[in-house]
Amino acid sequence: MTLLGPADPPAVHRINPDGRAPILFVSDHDANAVAAALDTLGLPPEELARHVGYDIGIAHIARRLSARFDAPLIASGYSRLVVDPNRWPGTAGSIPEAADGTTIPGNRNLTDDARSARLDSLFHPYHAAIAETLDAMIAHGPAPLFIALHSFTPALRSAGGDRPWEIGFLWDTDDRASALAIAAFRRRFPDVNVGANQPYSGSSPEGYTVPVHAKRRGLHDLTLEFRQDLIATPEGGDLWADRFAVVLDDVLANSALIQ
Ligand SMILES: [Zn+2]
Repeated sequence: MTLLGPADPPAVHRINPDGRAPILFVSDHDANAVAAALDTLGLPPEELARHVGYDIGIAHIARRLSARFDAPLIASGYSRLVVDPNRWPGTAGSIPEAADGTTIPGNRNLTDDARSARLDSLFHPYHAAIAETLDAMIAHGPAPLFIALHSFTPALRSAGGDRPWEIGFLWDTDDRASALAIAAFRRRFPDVNVGANQPYSGSSPEGYTVPVHAKRRGLHDLTLEFRQDLIATPEGGDLWADRFAVVLDDVLANSALIQ
């Protein structure tokens, strides 16, 4: 059963697929589209437009970095509220019934067929695109550095309190690339407040994309999050993309990360 109609956007965007850098960028929460058949999940537009719907500002940054490094970018075409590409199917976060204080009417009392339609139409094509791209890159060149791009809200309703970090790097057990990036950020931009496994760690809540694609292949990986209020405009996005680009140049200069 397919969820998508002719007027719906594609499940996955492949940007610069033939990019030559030994880097793959992925953007799990790039878009806030909802398939027409799902009728906005019963949500008003302002709910889909806030951080629960997608990672505000990251689409602009991801495309700028893809162009800057001549690297492929795989981006999800749909809201994380339809099915979250970075949560294991079958877990509560995969098709959430609530997110940071917002109840999602269209995700309640779903049948198994309805869940399968979202996975088959959106989740699996997105991850297949990542896997295919990695296969092709590894077949033709060095094993790439896997970079997962996200943004985070400075004020999570359910957590209370502000989050002062301007950018954060997250990891689970392997911090080799993250440690290089954090050190480079502190050297290049000493005034920037860099989070190290804050506001949460790379293993809690458990992600899907990095373990499945990077860890299983033994690739080095970076997961980073930009604070949304800093990147909500194109100018802000450019500034922070370019700051990270300087840092990434330093990381790439450590040739041990490219196998
Ligand atoms: Zn995200």
